[in-house]
Amino acid sequence: MIKKALVAFLVLAGAALAAEYPAKTSEKSPALMIGVKIYEHEGSLPNLFAEWSSLGVNTVFVSPALAAQGQFRELARKHGISVFLILPIFYNPEELKKDPGLYALTDRGEQAKDDWVEFVCPTRPDYRSRRVLWIKNLVRELDPDGVSLDFIRYFVFWEMVYPERTADSIANSCFDRSCLEKFQKDTGITLPERLGGTAETAKWIMAEHGREWTDWKCGVITSLVRTIIDEVRAIKPKLLVNIHSVPWRENDFGGAIKVIAGQDLAALAAPADMISPMCYWHMLKRKPPWIREVVEDVYSRTKGLVVPSIQVGNAYLSDKLSAEEFKEALEEALRPPSGGVIFWNWDALAKEPEKKAAVADRLKVRSR
Ligand SMILES: [Zn+2]
Repeated sequence: MIKKALVAFLVLAGAALAAEYPAKTSEKSPALMIGVKIYEHEGSLPNLFAEWSSLGVNTVFVSPALAAQGQFRELARKHGISVFLILPIFYNPEELKKDPGLYALTDRGEQAKDDWVEFVCPTRPDYRSRRVLWIKNLVRELDPDGVSLDFIRYFVFWEMVYPERTADSIANSCFDRSCLEKFQKDTGITLPERLGGTAETAKWIMAEHGREWTDWKCGVITSLVRTIIDEVRAIKPKLLVNIHSVPWRENDFGGAIKVIAGQDLAALAAPADMISPMCYWHMLKRKPPWIREVVEDVYSRTKGLVVPSIQVGNAYLSDKLSAEEFKEALEEALRPPSGGVIFWNWDALAKEPEKKAAVADRLKVRSR
């Protein structure tokens, strides 16, 4: 039912686009979601929305702080732009600073921390409840069209995992007391008493019960997604739910999307409305056609709406992401079975006129 609502939304958004841009009317494919991610903004909000409309943007993925700012939501309604709140789940530096005991623990026995990425253990009942309550309050206060669940997974700094990496070199988690106790309770598997530290315990689990461990991890993530969806839809039945997924195909890095990230996309797609893989090809040392390969892979497992997020500006790597390569990436991102594209992020697009013109041109819209 909710999926029908999203299709209806896209058809309506598409009708608006088609009315304005007749070039699209002859196409039979459903309307595409054209989204931007934005976290903060200091300039004029009316100008911002006018520019989005001129580019054909019909959805904005926004931080709760910016969604709460000034006339943001009123302008979104006026322009027919749908608002999704970006909500980080297990990435939470503030809570970790207050209570370092919440850190997830890797199979090396280390805190789940790499560069700016730091993760909370996913099985703490109190933390999970607090996040659910936080989300419910935001849905009540800001009345968004959708929520976009980010960092809804186990710890991994995937942004710097390049194609040549081996599966074993990526840290697995979480092996703290909370997870080990819950794993034993939920699966009936008992850890031998002879096991020494975290590394030895993790090694034994992966060798003897690797499959059960991975299935259980995925369940830890899926169950929270289900709880969040049940709770928010009790407040707003038509609220849409997007899941940010790690851009790994099913067999990349030894099945790491499940083994490391704990994201079973088929299971997550069932209660959610859409999956958005973060196809930031340039920083991952991939080529634009890889975006379509990821979308096809996700779609093959979920059979639902898949809308890739693509990067616009440089990140992590210094070699310039050219306008030419961006255009190619945009084409790949829009190829079926994709349901659209989400630009990460608006700030990067706003400051590069050539890339902005490419977006306007591809969407058959004249830039103002
Ligand atoms: Zn844990």
